[in-house]
Order: sequence, then C-alpha cells, then structure tokens
Amino acid sequence: MRETIFALSSGFGTSAVAVFRLSGPASFEVISSLTRQPLPLPRVASVRTLRDRDDQPLDQALVLVFEAGASFTGEESAEIQCHGGRAVVQRLSDELAAQPSCRMAEPGEFTRRAFENGRMDLAMIEGLGDLISADTEHQRRQAMRLMTGGLSNVAEEWRETLLECRTLLEVTIDWVDEDVPEDVMPEVARKLGGLRDALRHELRQGARTERLRTGFQVALIGPPNAGKSSLLNAIAGREAALISDIPGTTRDVLEVPYDLNGLPVIFLDTAGLRTATDAIEKLGIDRARDRATGADLRIHLRSFDTGTSEYVIEGIGATDISVWSKSDIGTGEADILLSSVTGEGVENLLQLVQTRLEAQAQGAGLLGHARQQQAVAHAMERIEHCLQRLYVDDLELCADALREASAALERLVGRIDVEDVLESVFSAFCLGK
Ligand code: GDP
Repeated sequence: MRETIFALSSGFGTSAVAVFRLSGPASFEVISSLTRQPLPLPRVASVRTLRDRDDQPLDQALVLVFEAGASFTGEESAEIQCHGGRAVVQRLSDELAAQPSCRMAEPGEFTRRAFENGRMDLAMIEGLGDLISADTEHQRRQAMRLMTGGLSNVAEEWRETLLECRTLLEVTIDWVDEDVPEDVMPEVARKLGGLRDALRHELRQGARTERLRTGFQVALIGPPNAGKSSLLNAIAGREAALISDIPGTTRDVLEVPYDLNGLPVIFLDTAGLRTATDAIEKLGIDRARDRATGADLRIHLRSFDTGTSEYVIEGIGATDISVWSKSDIGTGEADILLSSVTGEGVENLLQLVQTRLEAQAQGAGLLGHARQQQAVAHAMERIEHCLQRLYVDDLELCADALREASAALERLVGRIDVEDVLESVFSAFCLGK
C-alpha cells in the first residue's frame, strides 16, 4: 500500500498560521488520531483541538479533509492549518512522523503524485514550478498560463491535426491496389504545412519566452571607470523591489536580478573593456564580451573622462542603448545623459530599458523551457521530413514520421518516456508541494 506523506507546505519561520498537508490512504486515520473527534465533512474547514500521543492538547487548528478523486494529488488528503509558532510546528511535525505509515514527503512529492494520478500533465507541472518561483508579474502571468493548460491544450490540437493527417495517409495506403477515391495528398500537405509553420513560430519565440521566465539580461558595458558599477548601485539602490542575489555570481560578471515593473531583468556589470594588462584581466574582458554579446540588451557607457571603448562588441543591435555617464562633469551625444551621483537620467534609462524589453517580451509564446523546445523541435523535424517525402516516397514512411511527431508531442506533456525527465523537473520543487 502507498505510504501517507506529510509536509509543512507553508514556508519556514514564524508565521501566524502554518499549513501542513497530508496525502495517502492513512490521511483520514491520522486526522482522527490527532483530533480524537469525528472527521470533518469533506472540503469543509472545521476547528479541532489537536492532541499529542499523551492526549495533551497541542494546538487548536482548522482541519480539512479531501476524499480520493477530489484532491490535488487525487488521493485521500488532509490539510491542517495550525498556529505558526516554531514550537507548534515542530511538535506537530513530530506527532505526524510518529503516526504509523506516515512519513515526511520529499520535495515535489505531492505534485509527483498529482502527475502519477493524472491530475496534471508535465507541462502544467512546469508551470506550477514556475509559479512558485515567480518573482515578478510577467513571470507570474506566464506561469499561470502554463499551469492552467496553455501549452497542453495547444499540444493536444497539434496532435489531433497529426492524427487526421495520419488517418488520411493510412486510408490511401489501404487503397493501394485499387483506385484511390480521392487524392488526399493536397489536403495532407496543406494541414501539415500549417502545423509546421505553427511549431516553427513557437520555436522562434522560444528564446524570449525562456527569458520571460529566467530574466532578460541587460549588460552594462564600456571602458573601465565609465561608471558601470556606480550606475548599477544607483539602480539597485532605488526603493523598487530588488530580487535577492543569484547564487553563483561570477567574480568578473556581477548579476543583479531586478523587478522592472513586473519584467524580470538581470543587470550584468561586466569588466571594463580595454587592452588587458594581465592574463586574469583578459579572461574577465573575454567573459564580459561573451556575456554582452549574448545579452538581450546592452547599455553602452561613455563618460567625459574615459572616452569610448577601444573594444567593439559584436551583436550590437539597433535597440541597444547609449549612455553618457557622469553628466554632472560633462556631456556628449547619447540616448541618455545620466549621473549616478545626482541621479539625473537614471529613471529615464530604466524607462527606456523597459520599453525595449517589453517589445521583446511581446512576442513571447508557450515554450519557456528547454525541454519543451526540444520536444517541439523534434516534432517539427519529423513533420518536415514527412512533407518533403509526401509525393516521392513510401507513404508508410511518411505515416511513421507522423507517428514519431505525435510521440514527441506526447513526450512534451509527459504522457510517455517521462522517467528520465521527472527527477530534474521535481528536484526544483520545494518541500510541501
Ligand atoms: P566602472 O569601472 O565603469 O564600474 O566605474 P565606477 O562606477 O567604478 O566609477 C569610476 C569612477 O567614476 C569612480 O571614482 C566613481 O566615483 C566615478 N563616478 C561614477 N559615476 C559618476 C557620476 O555620475 N558622476 C561623477 N562625478 N563621478 C562618477
């Protein structure tokens, strides 16, 4: 029999209320044993006194029970909303662990059970994971779209089109020795062409969709002493929400995550670009160039006292922004004149960054995860393969290619071949989810 799992689903630390969840066949039994009172009606919050093994009152809590088939995991489940003091939480945790057939859940285990019981597919689960780690409004909206089936529903439509085309091909194959009543090839080609274009469109949006999830990278570049670090401090020092530092920040490229009115942004402070005087500096400069080239937007700084960079960064786009910094000591030609000392121009710069990034974010699609992009790329490649051979090749091979394309889309939502991806998907989940 399946074990019953429990976890503190609200975060750690003192709070007014803490939420424990239970899932598995002994959930109701555990609630009965903790309350020694009749079970509440399913899905009706009821106040209960919780008691420890010595029958001493432990806390007063709200208790909810969910019957199998009508819960997040699909299993018999319960929720205890107790007081959030550390001692209460610790004691209740101990009492739950002492219950027979009850153990602490692994991170993501509730969601894993929801998946195994067919309550959510893999794409929705990725959306749920994104929602829990969403720091900004855009991230939250994108995650909600994924979690509520935005991608799953579209993938289902794609699969239906594939199935229709396969059926048409198979009918033709069956009629091979007789006159085919109707030439279905133009219809198959039209449908598959439309589908291929739709997949290609989604894949083209993949990079920016992923950025909307992980943060748009904005690189500050320019010669040493152009005022890059001072500008970053001026930006970070504003009252606006600054997301906590990303761990693993490299010594030479400093990453500062930032919530730009809902847009997730990572400002990169790079090494000053000049002819390196030693090997270590050269490494830093090479990395600065690479990161700047790969960034979504570059802010080029120049100042009165440093002039321009001797280095040219490849990949400079028309949308990049030029800044004349230290405007308090002198100015020149640029999109923005700015002083980190007086604060002049900082707000204008942020507005311009927002406008430029919003233009990039607008085309965001559904494929914000590399795993999803790979599955769709595989499906598209198989469809393309079929299209190229439709009139010249064995129709059975064409039908096979469509079958493989369908399988790739099933992989996308986790209907097949999930074992090797489950670990990486769920390892990112926190305890109690
Ligand atoms: P970085 O090497 O590009 O990161 O440049 P820093 O931010 O370290 O700045 C280099 C020097 O310029 C420091 O001495 C700063 O105090 C000075 N500086 C930076 N921004 C301004 C500014 O807006 N006005 C003035 N007057 N000095 C600045």
